[in-house]
Amino acid sequence: MLQNNLDPEVAEHPDRLVVYGGTGKAARDWGSFDAMVRTLRDLRGDETMLVQSGRPVGVLTTHEWAPRVLIANSNLVGDWATWEEFRRLEQLGLTMYGQMTAGSWIYIGTQGILQGTYETFAAVAAKRFGGSLAGTLTLTAGLGGMGGAQPLAVTMNDGVALCVDCDPRAISRRIEHGYLDVGADSLDEALRLVTEARDRRRPLSVGVLGNAADLVPRLLAAGAPVDIVTDQTSAHDPLAYLPLGVDFDDMARYAAEDPAGFTERARESMARHVEAMVGFQDAGAEVFDYGNSLRGEARAAGYERAFDYPGFVPAYIRPLFCEGKGPFRWAALSGEAKDIATTDRAVLDLFPENESLARWIRLAGERVRFQGLPARICWLGQGERDRAGERFNDLVASGELAAPLAIGRDHLDCGSVASPYRETEAMADGSDAIADWPLLNAMVNVASGASWVSLHHGGGVGMGRSLHAGQVTVADGTPLAAEKIRRVLTNDPATGVIRHVDAGYPRAAEVAAERSVRVPMREE
Ligand code: NAD
Repeated sequence: MLQNNLDPEVAEHPDRLVVYGGTGKAARDWGSFDAMVRTLRDLRGDETMLVQSGRPVGVLTTHEWAPRVLIANSNLVGDWATWEEFRRLEQLGLTMYGQMTAGSWIYIGTQGILQGTYETFAAVAAKRFGGSLAGTLTLTAGLGGMGGAQPLAVTMNDGVALCVDCDPRAISRRIEHGYLDVGADSLDEALRLVTEARDRRRPLSVGVLGNAADLVPRLLAAGAPVDIVTDQTSAHDPLAYLPLGVDFDDMARYAAEDPAGFTERARESMARHVEAMVGFQDAGAEVFDYGNSLRGEARAAGYERAFDYPGFVPAYIRPLFCEGKGPFRWAALSGEAKDIATTDRAVLDLFPENESLARWIRLAGERVRFQGLPARICWLGQGERDRAGERFNDLVASGELAAPLAIGRDHLDCGSVASPYRETEAMADGSDAIADWPLLNAMVNVASGASWVSLHHGGGVGMGRSLHAGQVTVADGTPLAAEKIRRVLTNDPATGVIRHVDAGYPRAAEVAAERSVRVPMREE
């Protein structure tokens, strides 16, 4: 999975060990990468490799239920948790940015975010547009590793998407991978194409080259018929957002030579970008933040209305978190696509009553091209993930799958993250910044038998703004794996249900009662 994260099909910039999300890396440097691969090849079943920010620092004797790898990435003590200090330490070669699934080796390409993005746009459709995006236009920016899922998620919901990116490579890569339909040569041409498609209620996604801080205000001023606005540029890191007036080709050099000046100009530009988004909201569009800290950076530049529109989690996703649902995923270590087809059938067979899941699995089978190892994402909840995992392990045992599966999830899950601008924005009890939960989640997964467990800082929204944990558990078909899978995939989502019961969400309390999740403060 470490090598898969860096497969050129999968990673955005494999030469620099960057997997996705601005500078999210799988290993600190190539020496560390080689040492990890070498160590993993010989690691015994009762040993555990320790990884400190992408570098293997030790191997300890543990036991067969212990994780084979324990990973801590990008963590800094509170008062030091700033980009400036992080970069100073990174320059000294002491740390790396692990994002969420980059440094924890469970990134599966743009598909990894696709279902969540698809579900988010489906929720927007349900809330505002009668259940479908047909006849609507979504404006967004950022066609990178994660943001690249947006156009396909919109067209899967039958809508039209206009997507801005300043990197021509990002646009062509998404077209190549089947996530984006076409590129336009100019803003005028793009606007003509999307307006025509919208009027005919025909799904279409169009990419246009430019700076979002320039094009979004221009579209607002032109009165473009936009119904939905969001953004997934890599705004969490001000050195990864192109400032106005800077050529894309000069971006990397400028950021390296004058990080403070670059940051100031990037923040200023983000303020203009957010101001235009608020303008679209004032004009009646559905506007939401897509988890990249764009609002926080705009506010840092002095734009006071930055938080006028909500984040996507409180707006659409929290009800799913209350049920322990989140971005569950698995990768076929055989490298064979037919293994994923077999698991798709198993999921359909296990949950026949779940129509939206069936629709997703069908659409994914038809429209998602694999990047690297064949993989599948599907949001499953408490009481579902363990059933799927056990079935998968049986399929490995019976030989119906050609090789084991790696079963994991994004750190963006129901109980594994504290991130007040994203997953824990506007919690019912005000506990947004309480960071005990991801620590408990990581410890629970270690105690339950996961194959590797990771604890990171700064993913999604940047330094000082999040702590989050992940787990991956290998289904190798053995009875021991079955037992580990049962515990991990029951306990891991249970921490999400517990976290939301504790915050006072009635649906989470119902789910806990229905699915036997014990919460002592609710017991007599
Ligand atoms: P990425 O670095 O792969 O892509 C970012 C893209 O933004 C690049 O293609 C870049 O050219 C473009 N860009 C930068 N500045 C721009 C500007 N001014 N105008 C137009 N385009 C610009 O990052 P990614 O993996 O796609 O992630 C995007 C953001 O979303 C990150 O901040 C990440 O932390 C966040 N994220 C959100 C979620 C979620 O669930 N919502 C999940 C993962 C990541």
